[in-house]
Amino acid sequence: MDQQQLVSTVVSEVLKQMQGNALTSTASTSSSSRPGMFGDVDTAVDHAWRAQRQLAGGLLSTRDGICKLIKRMATENAQAWGKLEFEETNIGRLDHKIGKLELIDSVPGVEFLTTAAHSGDAGIGLDEMAPWGVIGVITPVTHSVPTMSANAISMIASGNALIVNPHPSGAKCLAHVAAEYNKAIKAEFDIDPLICVIEKPTLRTAEEIFKHERIPMLVVTGGPAVARAAMKQAKRSIVAGPGNPPVVVDETADLDKAAEGIIAGASFDNNLLCIGEKEVFVVASVFDKMMAAMRKAGAVELSAGGIEKLTAAAIPYVKDHYAVSKDFVGKDPKVLAAAAGVNIADGVPLLFGETDESNPFVAEEQMMPFVPFVRVPDFDHALDLAIKHEHGFGHTAIIHSNNLNNITQMGRAMNTTLFAVNGPSTGCLGIGGEGYPSFSIATPTGEGVTSPMTFTRFRRMSVVNSLRIV
Ligand code: NAD
Repeated sequence: MDQQQLVSTVVSEVLKQMQGNALTSTASTSSSSRPGMFGDVDTAVDHAWRAQRQLAGGLLSTRDGICKLIKRMATENAQAWGKLEFEETNIGRLDHKIGKLELIDSVPGVEFLTTAAHSGDAGIGLDEMAPWGVIGVITPVTHSVPTMSANAISMIASGNALIVNPHPSGAKCLAHVAAEYNKAIKAEFDIDPLICVIEKPTLRTAEEIFKHERIPMLVVTGGPAVARAAMKQAKRSIVAGPGNPPVVVDETADLDKAAEGIIAGASFDNNLLCIGEKEVFVVASVFDKMMAAMRKAGAVELSAGGIEKLTAAAIPYVKDHYAVSKDFVGKDPKVLAAAAGVNIADGVPLLFGETDESNPFVAEEQMMPFVPFVRVPDFDHALDLAIKHEHGFGHTAIIHSNNLNNITQMGRAMNTTLFAVNGPSTGCLGIGGEGYPSFSIATPTGEGVTSPMTFTRFRRMSVVNSLRIV
């Protein structure tokens, strides 16, 4: 090596080291006590990108181990983390915040990844599911830690890293838990932060994630505005959007079972679930009996006057539209009852009452533990109103019926991602029904209940005229 070559080699080594140091020094925002927490999107992407390379270059058994670690930690810390989220967001129910974290154990991991094989005269082919890389994740305030945890399992199982822009009102609990996951992953698997979180999330940081050239995929869980924003982006977006799930009860239904199902689904976390029962259409011939079944099952009925007062307070008409008041979203039935001028006992799971179709509790995704019941002449009318008030979200619908034709007709006509029959909506996510859970149900983009397969790219290898061993 001549002197000039030597100088050039030394300079290039020094430059490499400086670049390495630059990356390490920006890591100051990701301290060892809170790994994965970042002040800006670019630095978060640098780190997530590096960690993703480490993950994807490693063993499947490592991914499996990380998923199991996250599940174990969510279960062991369900009480503490549920409380943390409940105290920060101040919505929903503590017991159900804990329940949602316990459910993380059932979120699918690497076992969901499949490989298809083709074998014939021309050789063999393998269809494998590869990672996308770094995924931009937007989480809702309604289930901040559960959405991040479930997304992390599905995305890491398929070899990806995450950059999370949480809802600002649920950002602290999410950041705390993500840092705990990152710390444990580093200790057990020596992998850098796979769950990178923007500590002070804003619409601007969300926009930067949407536009970032090193983030090829977005996974957005939230209401109409963010769903629209994500679907406008020039990159692959998986959108878990809003719902307004209608329930139909026909004259053949087991009314006691229907009441139990509606209460279980609609009272879950004070009706914050996007799949939760939001309005009920009951055929007139069994309407009064259905109301009696609801009372018998423990829900409290509001009078017409009470409903009028609650509606004026909780969904007021502002300028030219109804606006769901944040003061009532996810609050306890007691708070809603007080607005209706009624005092109820602690522990009442749900309020209900008869309304017209025109009451805004029917059309709006209210996310409150009051469910309007609308009297309709027959099943056909019930189905028409269910279709109308689901608003084409394609999210969730529920029927209570023992008439196979009605069940089939409604399932076809609603065309929703989830369709619960003779049980609570939560049955569709494996809570008392069959199927696996997820907190991101991709509705407008059609991927459905997300799983590790949702976050993969199809890749085929063909070995031509060879390796066929039969
Ligand atoms: P939200 O729409 O207010 O916020 C969701 C997320 O989007 C937050 O992180 C928020 O900061 C962000 N956001 C909002 N507007 C944005 C914009 N224009 N650009 C970028 N980011 C933006 O919803 P929420 O109150 O947190 O959650 C409740 C909503 O989410 C309901 O509509 C519910 O149905 C829906 N949801 C859907 C699913 C599903 O799986 N389909 C799951 C949970 C919640």
